[in-house]
Amino acid sequence: MRTDQEKYCFSCGEAIFSKAEICPKCGVPQPDIVRNKTLNNRWIAAVLLCWILGVFGAHRFYLGRTGSGVLMLITIGGLGIWYLIDLILVIVGQMRDSNGQYVKAQIE
Ligand SMILES: [Zn+2]
Repeated sequence: MRTDQEKYCFSCGEAIFSKAEICPKCGVPQPDIVRNKTLNNRWIAAVLLCWILGVFGAHRFYLGRTGSGVLMLITIGGLGIWYLIDLILVIVGQMRDSNGQYVKAQIE
């Protein structure tokens, strides 16, 4: 019987736990979870780094933006102003990594 805790495997149709990323029966990754529901670990790390060590530019170093990271470190997060702006940008998913890709909460 299907409940809120269950879904059907995209591949074999077996009822599996709704948050399972991989079907325990056939081992096939569940695309709906991978694409829409899994929080992006890189985003979580960036938010935490920015929140805790943001004035030192830790999130920028993490995302490969070393140049602006050093500048942030020297200016102590732009005396806190740059830090606050960055923190908001990271949380709302408007921060880019060194490849120009936005780091968002959800994988698209
Ligand atoms: Zn399956």
